[in-house]
Amino acid sequence: MHELSLVNSILDQLEEISRSNYDRKIVRVDLKVGALEHIEPEVLKNIFDQVKEGSCAERAELVVSQEMALVRCRNCMMEYTPEDSIWICPRCEFLGGEIIKGTEIIIESVYLE
Ligand SMILES: [Zn+2]
Repeated sequence: MHELSLVNSILDQLEEISRSNYDRKIVRVDLKVGALEHIEPEVLKNIFDQVKEGSCAERAELVVSQEMALVRCRNCMMEYTPEDSIWICPRCEFLGGEIIKGTEIIIESVYLE
């Protein structure tokens, strides 16, 4: 499951951050997820709440924000945000494009107690 392995890798990073900060506990994590990853923030939060038990992030709240998708038309080079899973350039109607933004998953901020 995509979400579970994502949460596990987030927790690994949090453990590392906690360790290098005198084992202080983590109280909040801000995560940015690209829209093209198709991750449900609620699903992610639920899994996080189950997996965080007994970890340095036991009392942490996960705050998920979405990064808008941006693709570039391969024909006219226009950059646009696709409305759905089919990418059609709004200017020349060319199908498909190159991803500029929307696939990143990054921990933006971590708050220690
Ligand atoms: Zn175009």
